[in-house]
Amino acid sequence: MANNITFTMIKPDAVAAGHIGAILAQINKAGFKIVAMKYTKLSAEKAGEFYDVHRERGFFGELVDFMSSGPIVAAVLEKDNAVEDFRTLIGATDPAKAAPGTIRALFAKNIGENAVHGSDSDENALIEASFHFSKMEMFR
Ligand code: UDP
Ligand code: MG
Repeated sequence: MANNITFTMIKPDAVAAGHIGAILAQINKAGFKIVAMKYTKLSAEKAGEFYDVHRERGFFGELVDFMSSGPIVAAVLEKDNAVEDFRTLIGATDPAKAAPGTIRALFAKNIGENAVHGSDSDENALIEASFHFSKMEMFR
């Protein structure tokens, strides 16, 4: 069931490094329409809730500390085939393995501080969008 939206965050490393504008430009150039956006900060509790599926993984504590370490940009993006096309645009989780020209290849520091989030399924895109935005804040 495709819904043509995906959810993204520009993570604290990329915000701190001044890459918000460059990343949004790449997103627009790739044909995504921004239908919701906010500049915000996750508490450790909220970061843990967002990444709950990774709770048992060794990197979970580090991930929560990192994701709550500074402001982020959260956004909902609309495009045909949004989830898959956005994963292609951002590249592999580990920037060392990300294809040249992808957002993570260009802006990520390492596998943890990797510049951006992208939903991995249509179902999770809806869950993640509604984690951050009310219906009134989404302009579809
Ligand atoms: N992560 C990490 N170490 C790892 C794998 C993942 O710190 O070995 C972090 C990284 O920030 C990643 C997030 O956990 O983006 C979620 O992991 P996932 O496997 O879902 O990668 P993604 O979907 O973001 O590519
Ligand atoms: Mg993931």
